[in-house]
This record gives sequence, structure tokens and C-alpha cells, in this order.
Amino acid sequence: MDICDLAPGYIRAIAPYQPGKPISELARELGLEETGIIKLASNENPLGVSPLARRAIESTLADLSRYPDGNGYDLKQALGRRHGVAQECIVLGNGSNDVLEMAARAFLAPGLEAVYSQHAFAVYPLAVQAAGAAGIEVPAKDYGHDLAAMRRAVTAKTRLVFIANPNNPTGTLAEPRQLEDFIAALPKEVLVVLDEAYNEYLPEDLRSDSVGWLKRYPNLVVTRTFSKIYGLAGLRVGYACAASGVADLMNRVRHPFNVNSVALAAATAALDDHDFTRRSFELNRAGMRQVTDGLKRLGLDYIPSFGNFVSFRLQDATGVFRKLLKAGVIVRPIASYGMPQHLRVTIGLESENSRFLASLEKALTA
Ligand code: PMP
Repeated sequence: MDICDLAPGYIRAIAPYQPGKPISELARELGLEETGIIKLASNENPLGVSPLARRAIESTLADLSRYPDGNGYDLKQALGRRHGVAQECIVLGNGSNDVLEMAARAFLAPGLEAVYSQHAFAVYPLAVQAAGAAGIEVPAKDYGHDLAAMRRAVTAKTRLVFIANPNNPTGTLAEPRQLEDFIAALPKEVLVVLDEAYNEYLPEDLRSDSVGWLKRYPNLVVTRTFSKIYGLAGLRVGYACAASGVADLMNRVRHPFNVNSVALAAATAALDDHDFTRRSFELNRAGMRQVTDGLKRLGLDYIPSFGNFVSFRLQDATGVFRKLLKAGVIVRPIASYGMPQHLRVTIGLESENSRFLASLEKALTA
């Protein structure tokens, strides 16, 4: 008997998350210089780390022999001020991935169900499966969430519904009104996890007042991240805002010290670096125009995106992906999202976008 056979079947059946290829790995594999490679595969911020966060990081170095503040007081204070919520309503995570998993661990168990959309963020099925619950995938509509069908998929066994808004990898958006109607129509025993990892890339008029909705819907959890517009993907910080009872349950399954002290300080500083987030927003808008204009010029169909990435369709996505790798350009294949004919590219610096488009044109003609 192999000890691995004794792990629960639902754990053995998990297909691991496939991250974007790191620059160092491609350099090793193809014998390329790391400096000659561009990575547009993980929806990272091409501007790097905010100057205020960098300064805060340096100031923590002397104290790294100490455990971090396990309650993240300073960051929760800053988030509380930003969102107008009490500290008891905030849960900090090692990336927002961590808070998504906490929601699953706190509310799911074998015999229960969670609903999410086809082509939605890959961590939802993983978190549901790790909790031993059943994932119910609802077919997408025009690559986006079909909220009416998702409502119909809710049964007496459903405890969680995951919604990514904007969604990754499709970039689709459910508008505030549709979303609130959906939440209002759900049974109160079903928790809605509204994943807003890309919220800060939306123009104001398309942003939901999601945290404000918590007053009306105690069955709502809103998640956000410091990995995208705040430029701290490598440090791993995210958070959830929820009713205090829900946040309390999530905190019970949270690992102690799950957010390290460098990450706490950096996130607190990044939250107030308005100049950096504004530049990041504007760079993304201009870059999105540059990339989508380029895709149009090449005659390629793409899914209009509200995030910092765009997915486009090809005859031979695998072949083009490989050719791009050889040219030192890393994008993301999304076959594991049920989209084998698409590739997803993150919006980079102007020069990176140009290089991506030139390499893509070559890959299509060579
Ligand atoms: N939600 C969505 C929709 C995402 O695309 C991502 C990152 N790819 C995450 C959550 C998790 O990001 P992080 O753990 O870095 O906060």
C-alpha cells in the first residue's frame, strides 16, 4: 500500500495550479539571458514596486528577527480608513488567494457545493476541492458570468458562490447593477465571494460599491489584492472585507502570521501611494489600447478586457506560445481554463507591448 493512496480521493484528484513561467526558468531552458526576456504572463505591474512601498520595506529590515504583528493592526487601520469598515470586518491574507481559500475552508465540507463560472479564476475549483466539497461550474455567456444561470445552479447544498469581477482570464465585467441584483436575489445562507483583484483598473463609473454593500448583505465577502495595481505580487498580500461574524470564522482558519512583516509594511505604504496607482492605471489604459490596436491590425479576435491583460484567439495557440517563448516573450496559455485556442497577455510597458506585438506578428507569419 502506497501511503499516497490513503489521501482522500478529492485531494488526489486536484490538478495543481499552473502559474506563469518565471523568467529564470525560461532562461535556463533555452540558454537565454534573463535580461533579454519579457514576462507578460502573470498580470503583474510593469512599473515595479511603488517608491513609498520600497522605502517602507527598507525600514523593516532591522526587525526581521521578530515575528510580524499577527493581527496586522497598521494595515487594517489603513484599510479600515480607506473602505470605512471596522477592523473586525477585515481579514488579511498571503495574497488574496489565501483569503479565497479561507472562505472555502470556513464554509465548505464534503457534501456541500460551491458555484462558479466556466472560464473563471482557477483557484476557485482548487479551493473547493481541497475542502472536499463539490464544485458546480456554470457555462459562461460570451466568456463572462451568466448570473441568471448561476442563480439557478444554487441548491440547498450550496454554501458559496465565487464571482471574479473583472474575471481572469477573460477580462469580462458584470456591471454594478446586475451584480447587486444577483446578490440580493440569493438565499441569505449562501455566501458570495466577490473577487475584485482587478478592481483598481476599472474607471470609477464601472466600480461597484461592493464594500458598501456589506451593510445590506451580511452574506457577502469582498476580496482585493496588493499584487496587481499596488505592484507587490512577490510579497503576497491580499484582504477580504466581510461582516464581522464571517471575518471571525475566516480568521479562525487563517495561519498565524500568514502575512509577513515586510509585506505588511509595504502594503500599508502602497495603499497611500496615489501617484503610483494613478501612473499604473494610466499606463494600463494606454497599453491596453496599444495591444488591442495591434491585435486588430493582425486580424486577431480578442475578448474586450477590463483588467490589465487581454485574451486573444488563434488557430494554433500552443504553436504561437512556443514561438513567443523562443523569442524571449512569455505569455500565458489558458487551455486549463477551457480556452485552448486563446493566449492571455498582460499589458506591459510600451516597449514590452511593442516587442510582444512584433514577436507575435513574426510567429504568425514564420
Ligand atoms: N483573483 C483573481 C481573479 C486573480 O487573477 C488573481 C491572481 N492571478 C488572484 C485572485 C490572486 O492573486 P493574489 O493571490 O496574488 O492576490
